[in-house]
Amino acid sequence: MSITKKPVIFCDFDGTITNSDNIVAIMQHFQPEGYEPIMQRIINGHTSIREGVGAMFALMPSQQKDEIISYVLGQAGIREGFARFLDYVREQQIEFFVTSGGIDFFIDPLLQPFDIPQDHIFCNEADFSGDIIQITWPHPCQEPCTNDCGMCKTTVIRQYPAEQYERILIGDSLTDFEGAKMADLVYSRSHLTLKCQELGVPHVPFETFDHIIEDLKQKQEQGVL
Ligand code: MG
Ligand code: ZN
Repeated sequence: MSITKKPVIFCDFDGTITNSDNIVAIMQHFQPEGYEPIMQRIINGHTSIREGVGAMFALMPSQQKDEIISYVLGQAGIREGFARFLDYVREQQIEFFVTSGGIDFFIDPLLQPFDIPQDHIFCNEADFSGDIIQITWPHPCQEPCTNDCGMCKTTVIRQYPAEQYERILIGDSLTDFEGAKMADLVYSRSHLTLKCQELGVPHVPFETFDHIIEDLKQKQEQGVL
């Protein structure tokens, strides 16, 4: 690691900033008819995230919008230490981005208390103007990614070249793994930790954002960040 590089953080949302996955929670709560085989195909890797998530929300009527939003806001918990972590990165002038495969209608209200600039939140969007919910994909894969991610995390990360930036990734799931391979520093939990262990990708496991603050402080004191 080099002290001349500028640190930049890419942080997942579902299961990372929040305690659990909101798309899974929405589907399991509302159980739109036919979502289960689609979810299974996403988990098995037989359908892309973009196709699968789009297909599951297309099973839900747009008029359920308010009900879905109030359900998510009522049950989603923000991981411990997140507000302190944001204070810390601001104080250290570290650039912070949310890079999420989730959707604006629940991410924006959940992040609203934290004052993160809109152009620092990368996520998918939902269109409720038709009969059914249509997910739109403003940040699709660009070369060389061909995973049909929906919101392509590696495409966002690539805009911050490794020669100039110390790229720090925070995440919890398999969808964070490609980014983890590119990053200089990975904070992982859950499935991402297991995948990194399995394939020998260096990572620092965490449970709360306070752990990450402690580790970043240590690295700064050691002069490696
Ligand atoms: Mg996640
Ligand atoms: Zn992609």
